[in-house]
Amino acid sequence: MLSNLPSIHLDHREFTPSETRPMDILSKVRNVPDFPKPGIQFKDITTLLADGEAFGKVMDDLADRYRGAGLSAVVGIESRGFIFGAALADRLGIGFVPVRKKGKLPADTIEKTYALEYGEATIELHRDALVKGDRVVVIDDLLATGGTLEASCALVEELGASIHEVWVLIELGFLKGRDKLGSRPIHAEAIIP
Ligand code: AMP
Repeated sequence: MLSNLPSIHLDHREFTPSETRPMDILSKVRNVPDFPKPGIQFKDITTLLADGEAFGKVMDDLADRYRGAGLSAVVGIESRGFIFGAALADRLGIGFVPVRKKGKLPADTIEKTYALEYGEATIELHRDALVKGDRVVVIDDLLATGGTLEASCALVEELGASIHEVWVLIELGFLKGRDKLGSRPIHAEAIIP
């Protein structure tokens, strides 16, 4: 009888060549408990960056995602957003625009202050970094409460640029940072629910 035959499960993923198989991002990122203070599980991306193959795969996927999207610039958030953002801008052959902590950018800036878990922070963008009609992707390593990315997006929009997408390597889903970003499209390579 047919039902007595051993089932042969043909999963197409078994036949996917290794170079096209999705990489497990979280296995490349080091979790450091209680840094910088008790209770925080810090996602340390330096282990991924130090792995040339893993970093290269992230950059390949990033470039594939935004090539042909008609972007005029990449916006990266200090400091780990600079690493992925600058490499992406170079791959796409477009400019890189840094969002920095207050007091670091030398020319005329616009700024936004936002709430942190304890206290507040201010970030800045050069006033002439973007113009109306620019279309950008905003890059950071991690989406936690969403305050940093929301403030960054608000600065980009204040200059008249439009946001094609927000990209993060990791999203801490349980913090609901996505909600703070409203209708702006967000792509996370890995989500910790
Ligand atoms: P938030 O404004 O709460 O979304 O925080 C985002 C910023 O803080 C990002 O630039 C992250 O680099 C950093 N961050 C927040 N929480 C973590 C965490 N658990 N591990 C690593 N970085 C974090």
